[in-house]
Amino acid sequence: MRVLTTALLSIAAVSAGAQAPTSGKRAESLVIRNATIVDGAGTPAIGPADIVIRGNRIAEIAWLDPVSIANGRAKRPTAATEIDATGKYVLPGLINGHAHVQDERGGIPQPLDYELKIWLACGITSVREVGADNTASLIDLRGRSDRGEVASPRIFVYARFSNPPVPETPDAARQRVRDLKKMGADGIKLLLVDRDVMTAMEDEAHKLGLRIAHHAGVEETNAWDDIRLGTTSIEHWYGIPDAAIKDGVQNFPPSYNYNNEVDRFRYAGHLWREADPDRLMMVLDSMAAHHVAWMPTLDIYEASRDLTRAQNQPWFRDYLHPTLEEYFKPNPNNHGSYFLGWTSTDETFWKENYRIWMNALREFERRGGLIGAGDDAGFIYQLYGFGLIRELELHQEAGFNPIKVIQHATSNNARILGRESDLGRVKVGYLADLIVVDGNPLENLKVLYPTGVDHIVNGAQVHSGGVQWTIKDGIPYNAPALLAEVKEIVRQARAARGH
Ligand SMILES: [Zn+2]
Repeated sequence: MRVLTTALLSIAAVSAGAQAPTSGKRAESLVIRNATIVDGAGTPAIGPADIVIRGNRIAEIAWLDPVSIANGRAKRPTAATEIDATGKYVLPGLINGHAHVQDERGGIPQPLDYELKIWLACGITSVREVGADNTASLIDLRGRSDRGEVASPRIFVYARFSNPPVPETPDAARQRVRDLKKMGADGIKLLLVDRDVMTAMEDEAHKLGLRIAHHAGVEETNAWDDIRLGTTSIEHWYGIPDAAIKDGVQNFPPSYNYNNEVDRFRYAGHLWREADPDRLMMVLDSMAAHHVAWMPTLDIYEASRDLTRAQNQPWFRDYLHPTLEEYFKPNPNNHGSYFLGWTSTDETFWKENYRIWMNALREFERRGGLIGAGDDAGFIYQLYGFGLIRELELHQEAGFNPIKVIQHATSNNARILGRESDLGRVKVGYLADLIVVDGNPLENLKVLYPTGVDHIVNGAQVHSGGVQWTIKDGIPYNAPALLAEVKEIVRQARAARGH
């Protein structure tokens, strides 16, 4: 007890002279004091510790626990600036493993910094962008982010393979891959291609060291092709139950048309129940054995199982941009806006669909599979950033311990990006992408929502939670200040439209 008291006194003493960081400006050195760390490696919380950042790297972690103090390893590092993390949790910055950079919705402009600032406010320091139209502008954004010229997470560009002119032959597929490599893409997003094109495309991508994210539709290929060809990750879930249907095709009604989104999403809700359970386990085993990861984006289908919940999320009041609000409304012209005639029967099928899907995810990880986390927001009532926190809650609902859930969104996503040696951990030598959270996300993932939580402390009602600081590449961002800027962007956009 005496040792502990000494430690607490010295924390106060060391803290006396240092400056608070300036939001958006990298300090020469920064120490996060007295933090409890959740490393992102699937290991439990540990602390307290002082984390020292120099430039854009984690330079030192000094443990302050009684044992370290007793054996003399608890030196107190100093730095020009510091953040007091007493009672707070420090995690690796969250990686959004399936995201879209959007500066318009349905052809109506939406300011890019709206999305970038929500991401940072939600603790997201890296984004795997899968399949925007304009690869060149994304590569430009990636560069500006890397140089610290714009407040933004790191951007990893997975260029859309099937941009016009759509490569229809194996030769055209190889040429497209070479062109994307030359442009500087980090990877390729594959959607709706036939087997011959996919085979050539994957072969060429492997030769050039490009990673592949596959969104299988209901199409010729399924997870067996991903296993055979070496896809990096299957996005969403299509292609996995399909590979386990004994008769090779789902039992669609004769009127079904894939391009009718009501049909597409309605009968997707019947897909998992048609997968043969034994065959499904074979698919999952093979994916794990061949290192095909799974990015499930559970959040993006949630409206299908509970439309009322999806349409009434509390953060819409202050943070939903009117352009996105309009895009979410049921409208057959907008992708994912298919809720016309959506019935309680549809929701019931989808609830069963989720149960089987979540069980498959759990089995996949138990069999050695790699699971990431991404939100696919900007569609189907999911708001950027908030959607990723919801995704984490749904991973917990699937049965994962919150320690594993955090791992999915940090070091697992870093592995899917091929960046596990410098991203996704709180570890000396790693890039300084960290978040300081007001609360314990292992106790309640909701503390990650920037709008915080209400709870009782010593008999009194208290509002707390949210990410306090998002540090990306050694640059600290005051998350509540960014969120206030987002609120102002939304307020002005609504005022301009007379709302
Ligand atoms: Zn997507």
